[in-house]
Amino acid sequence: MKVIARYWQIFWRKVGEFNHFLLVIIVMQMSLNNSYIGRFAPTPTGKLHMGSLIAAVASYCEAQKHNGQWLLRIEDLDPPREVPGASQSFIKTLTRFGFEINNNVVFQSETLRQKAYQRALDKLIKNGHTYNCACSRSQLKSISIKAHQCRNQKQIPQKPYSINLKVPDSTLTFEDRIQGIYARNLLNDCGDCVLKRKDGLFSYQLAVVVDDSFQNITDVVRGIDLIDSTPWQIYLNNLLNYQQPSYAHIPILVNNTGQKLSKQTFAKEINQADPLETLLVAHNILLQKPFKNKPKSLIEFWNVAIAHWNINKLDNIQSIQV
Ligand code: GLU
Repeated sequence: MKVIARYWQIFWRKVGEFNHFLLVIIVMQMSLNNSYIGRFAPTPTGKLHMGSLIAAVASYCEAQKHNGQWLLRIEDLDPPREVPGASQSFIKTLTRFGFEINNNVVFQSETLRQKAYQRALDKLIKNGHTYNCACSRSQLKSISIKAHQCRNQKQIPQKPYSINLKVPDSTLTFEDRIQGIYARNLLNDCGDCVLKRKDGLFSYQLAVVVDDSFQNITDVVRGIDLIDSTPWQIYLNNLLNYQQPSYAHIPILVNNTGQKLSKQTFAKEINQADPLETLLVAHNILLQKPFKNKPKSLIEFWNVAIAHWNINKLDNIQSIQV
């Protein structure tokens, strides 16, 4: 009887050890899959151009390389500037180009998102980090931030007013994964920023921070034209007690006169007729190791592009001429 009990004990101990082993594997697997969450967050104010495509490719490859997730967020905060149909066309194009998009695409215009921005704003107002301002653009241009009287007033203006973030006189430093150390004095270099506009729309600066936290984004990969906004976003993140994502700002594309290619400068829409060819152009612009043989399919393109992806090829590069 004693012998049977002993074997029984050993048997259960082994089962326990095996379960523990399984648990460790599952947790490791979960952390491999969950630890990196990247995103692509286009604004639907035009068609997809090469500058946006390289941000999509870079953020996607970086997320895949880390066995992470890649989320899509449509930043449709500003209906007057939106081009009808642009959001759906982004999703269709990215899908045709072989990006795997999960079903949880976030639209900033959704009521729940708008409520979340208001909640975050209310917290900032309650904690004294904001002020109301009814000044016109020209009035604002002619005064220095330190002399801006609205910063110290508590009254509700009688005219439409914006709600602004009041930044402190302190230096914010972060290490960008591509551009290195970036330090700015919030008051002197950045100034205050608008959180809710006079027309009642929430600003990009507020929404992006609330949504990066909502989507649990750990790593932001985007164009360097947004690096100037990052100190505000980090500061807001801290005020709202959110987890801090890491940042990697890729170079912007410029034409031969040094002008940024953007919707505003009428950058050409990407060639949609041949997704593979267009992706190869993007891959080349991103200074990645050239393909030995031209891939025969989108699947092959992504497999090789992800396997060889190296974000450090872009280190310290701020613009690329195309
Ligand atoms: N929506 C912004 C744009 O299209 C990008 C925002 C971000 O990546 O933080 O330029």
